[in-house]
Amino acid sequence: MLYNNLTVNEKGHLAIGGLDAVELAAEYGTPLYVLDEDVIRANCRTYVDAMHEYFGPESAPLFASKALCFKGIYPVVQSEGMCVDVVSPGEIFTAVAAGFPASKMFFHGTNKTDADIEYGVSQGIGYFVVDNLNELEVLNKVASEQEVVQKVLLRLTCGLDPHTLEAINTGKVDSQFGVPIDTGQADEFVRTALSCEYIEVAGFHSHVGSQIFESDSFNRQVEILTEYAAKMKYAYGLTVRILNIGGGFGVRYTEKDPQIDIPARIKEVSEHLKAACEKYGISFEAIYMEPGRSIIADAGTTLYTTGGCKEVKGYRNYVTVDGGMTDNPRYALYKSEYTVLNASKAGEPADYECTIAGRCCESGDRVAEYVSIAKPERGDIIAVLTTGAYNYAMASNYNRIPKPAMIMIKDGKSRLVVKRETYEDLMKNEL
Ligand SMILES: *Cc1c(COP(=O)(O)O)cnc(C)c1O
Repeated sequence: MLYNNLTVNEKGHLAIGGLDAVELAAEYGTPLYVLDEDVIRANCRTYVDAMHEYFGPESAPLFASKALCFKGIYPVVQSEGMCVDVVSPGEIFTAVAAGFPASKMFFHGTNKTDADIEYGVSQGIGYFVVDNLNELEVLNKVASEQEVVQKVLLRLTCGLDPHTLEAINTGKVDSQFGVPIDTGQADEFVRTALSCEYIEVAGFHSHVGSQIFESDSFNRQVEILTEYAAKMKYAYGLTVRILNIGGGFGVRYTEKDPQIDIPARIKEVSEHLKAACEKYGISFEAIYMEPGRSIIADAGTTLYTTGGCKEVKGYRNYVTVDGGMTDNPRYALYKSEYTVLNASKAGEPADYECTIAGRCCESGDRVAEYVSIAKPERGDIIAVLTTGAYNYAMASNYNRIPKPAMIMIKDGKSRLVVKRETYEDLMKNEL
């Protein structure tokens, strides 16, 4: 099995965290998102412990809400000592409703509207991650009206290419995110921020991309940011207290993907950071990272009920499921690969090559292509692994399909954390 929380039980069914996937599907219905809370907590702890050890006690990971935002996730990450990043008022609203302290939130976004900025400041957001000069101006005005000094990180781009998909590559100079160092525009950004009376510049932020396996871009990023922090110290007297180096560690979707040793990577980054700090004669109070995918992806499994097989002679076999691009658009967006199992026949040889197709009227509605599973019959439960990140968060109601329910598993027990949408829910805003 791809992960060690997955086993085959005595009935030959897939078990997730010790619970029979076929029984979970019968109890809660399908499609069903299953999250293993023990895995989420273990992932959080890996980051918290390694960051404390290698970056110092003030350092912490932030959970990137965009990977999976719903009320129930916040108490879990909070109790593990994580801060969170949020990218919209909707995410802030959800986190606040869940009781997460706004002072531990970092507010991202390339285009925060005036209303977003007013909302964020009024909620007492800990740090705005300011994307550009326009935002800086509005934020200063709003903070002055609300009579607060708003702490910020300035989002910079370091001109790095982390060799990931174009759609999730954010660190290059030619990017809509942040302000580039290379073009000299970051200097004006820093100067302007320092001149804003109601803004306190606490440090810099940079995020190179997502689903990254190589370590070079993270190592280079801390060197570039440290050099730049020293330059800004000598040019404008800025003390950069905090460096937030973003998220992006890759996860294992299939056997082909490597398994990243997160503590080893963090150690490696910390060594590059330390060397750069010595070289440029500065130090930082705290380092933050923003993992989303590597906290939540491998904790998630989606269960579907299959409609059966369709064998197109001379071409391929299709297995249809009762979900697809509406609950997981990642194949349609990025041709993402997944590991698929027949959860009802998990003990049988996986020797039936097929393409898993969804239920939408769209030929791009596929979950995985050319995967091998035990040949399913109508009614078998199909499990797609590693769906914790960017699945529920990206789900839609295309073809008027209600969003699935989500359950969490902990200590061998399951509980409902998101109800299945009803048809009435689909019409609730329609007059
Ligand atoms: C998407 C994103 C993250 C999280 O990335 P993962 O690949 O899920 O770890 C963190 N920070 C920013 C600014 C992002 O845009």
